[in-house]
Amino acid sequence: MNACPCCPPAGLRRRSFLGAAALACLAAAIPGAAGAATPAAGPRLAPDQALARLMAGHARYLAGAAPAIAVNAEARAARAAGQAPFAAILGCADSRAAPELLFNTGLGELFVVRNAGNVADTGAVGSLEYAVANLGVSLIMVLGHERCGAADAAVAAARAPLALPPQLGDMLQPIIPSALAAIRAGGDVLDGTIRANIARNAARLVEVSPVLAAATAAGRLRIVGARYDLDDEAVALMS
Ligand SMILES: [Zn+2]
Repeated sequence: MNACPCCPPAGLRRRSFLGAAALACLAAAIPGAAGAATPAAGPRLAPDQALARLMAGHARYLAGAAPAIAVNAEARAARAAGQAPFAAILGCADSRAAPELLFNTGLGELFVVRNAGNVADTGAVGSLEYAVANLGVSLIMVLGHERCGAADAAVAAARAPLALPPQLGDMLQPIIPSALAAIRAGGDVLDGTIRANIARNAARLVEVSPVLAAATAAGRLRIVGARYDLDDEAVALMS
C-alpha cells in the first residue's frame, strides 16, 4: 500500500523502520525537501471516515468486545509486507491508556506515538509527518487522559521549583504553560491542565509542521483532541 520508488523491498524495510532508506523516502515526500516527489500514497479514508472508524472501535471497546489484536501466523503474514494505518494517535505513555485497546484495533491499524504528557515534541511531530506524508494517514488524534501524572508534575513545577532530573524537567516544560493557564482559571487545576495541554499540542502540530499544516489546509488531514476518562472508560472528543 505504501510502496515508494525510493524505498527498499518490504523485507528490508521492516528491519529498519526509520533507517537511511526510509528517511530518504520521507525526505522525498516532504515538499521542499531535496528530490521532492509526489507522496507515494494518498489517504485511503477521508478524515471524517477515519474518525468514524476510530470511534466505532471505541464503542466496541466500551461494549466489552474482545481485543482485536490477533497474534498468529495469518495476521503476521498479512502485515509483513507493509503498513497501512488509518489513523495516528499522539497519546500519553501512561500504562492505562493503550490506544490499540481503547479503539479495539489490530496491529497495523493505528500509527501510535506516545510520550509522557502527549507532547508534540520533535520526535512526535516528525513521526506524525511520516505517517501523513508516506502512509497516507488522514486523522491524528491527540489523546490525553484523566489524572495524568505528567500534567500533575507540571502543575507542581508551575507552583514551585522542583528538584527533577534534567531530562524529566525538560520534558515537563511544554506542559507548564497549560498548567499556568489552569492555575489562573481556578477550579479543577489538574483537569484544566490536561484539557489545555491536549488543545495546545493539537494546535502545535500545524503551527510547527508545514507538512501537517498543508495536509490540513488541503482537507487531507484532520487533527482532533480527545480526553480519556479513567473512571467511565470513555474517550470524549474535545471541541
Ligand atoms: Zn499521562
